[in-house]
Amino acid sequence: MIKALRGTQDILPVAAEKWQFLETRIRRLCRQYGFGEIRTPHFEQTELFQRGIGETTDVVSKEMYTFSDRGNRSLTLRPENTAAAVRAYLEHKEYADQGVTKWYYMGSMFRYDRPQAGRFREFHQFGIEILGTPLPQADAECIAMAVQLFTELGLQDLTVYINSVGCPVCRPRYRQVLLDYLQQYRGELCEDCVARMEKNPLRVLDCKQEHCHAVALGAPRLTAHLCEECATHYQAVQALLAAAGIEVTEDPRLVRGLDYYTKTAFEIQYAPLGAQSAICGGGRYDGLVEEIGGISVPGIGFAVGLERLLLALESQQLLPEQEAAADVAIAVQTEAANEVAFALGQQLRQAGRSVDTDLLQRSMKSRLKQAAKSGVKYVIIMGETELTEGTVTLRDMQSHAQETVPQAALTDVLATKLDGRG
Ligand SMILES: [Zn+2]
Ligand SMILES: [Zn+2]
Repeated sequence: MIKALRGTQDILPVAAEKWQFLETRIRRLCRQYGFGEIRTPHFEQTELFQRGIGETTDVVSKEMYTFSDRGNRSLTLRPENTAAAVRAYLEHKEYADQGVTKWYYMGSMFRYDRPQAGRFREFHQFGIEILGTPLPQADAECIAMAVQLFTELGLQDLTVYINSVGCPVCRPRYRQVLLDYLQQYRGELCEDCVARMEKNPLRVLDCKQEHCHAVALGAPRLTAHLCEECATHYQAVQALLAAAGIEVTEDPRLVRGLDYYTKTAFEIQYAPLGAQSAICGGGRYDGLVEEIGGISVPGIGFAVGLERLLLALESQQLLPEQEAAADVAIAVQTEAANEVAFALGQQLRQAGRSVDTDLLQRSMKSRLKQAAKSGVKYVIIMGETELTEGTVTLRDMQSHAQETVPQAALTDVLATKLDGRG
């Protein structure tokens, strides 16, 4: 038997209802904040991700789904969406009016990763990008938006961690200070971290190994070595968030590996998820657009892993528990009524009703049982009497009361009952 691949999943209707609930909330929030949706292809030239994510990252060096197409081009399934959004931004010359571009995306991403709870090889992300402004207001707006999403969904115990990773002016200076410090502890660091000291010493700060972690705790802080511009920016972001009543916790070990990341880095954690507690990560990337397309445009964004967010919401019972029921179900009791019943069903659907038509035509008893289980509010019964009289019997599934309604009046009668209007 052929099964779904490891790290992929089928989302069946009851689960899809939860996804839709979450997606609807996300889209509403994006409208509130003035973001338009960008949908980029699921695959791109491999080079885009090599440049946009960085060849030294785990994502590019170990986790990408890269293949040759029949024209021998090297293509890659998108492992994240920022690089593609920036590619689209450049390709469509969004920068031409020198305004601010605010985009959000939501969809499948692909990484060859070890599957575990809340982690899949085909997974889903929602994210935003703000391109074209260096101002700290954009940083604050990103963070505020993510916090509003999680708070409105009902999650409590959120912690917003924030840091500044500096810029090409101040980071190299800090890098040297950090290296001098790390040299003293070289013997205590893991193998990976010793290698990181050469390429990317900042990454030692977020190593999960116990000894490295201890060394990192005593390391000099980047925020103490920021240039004036970065320091001012960092303070402004914090002041804006404080003004809106958003609490943040500074985390000097929140770093990002690549040169194009600048200034603000942030992460939102939801502690009850344990080891997988990070539900949102983001930051400023003022060097990325130039890395991909040669022109310099500041940018900032975040991404949210939707599987993990759903796990968090599920654990707090914050998701709908079943599929939404139809407004009405039809029960046909005589074959002679098939055509009239079918036409009535279509008429109701055209009037905006959701209708569960009778596709099995089993006994009345089993039809009512099934209707009750689905949570439908009314059942329209069509038997011989109703057919002759041009009526239907309308059964209220809650009170079990039944009434006779002329077929011609059914749409209006249901509108009164279901919408409370006449
Ligand atoms: Zn700086
Ligand atoms: Zn380490």
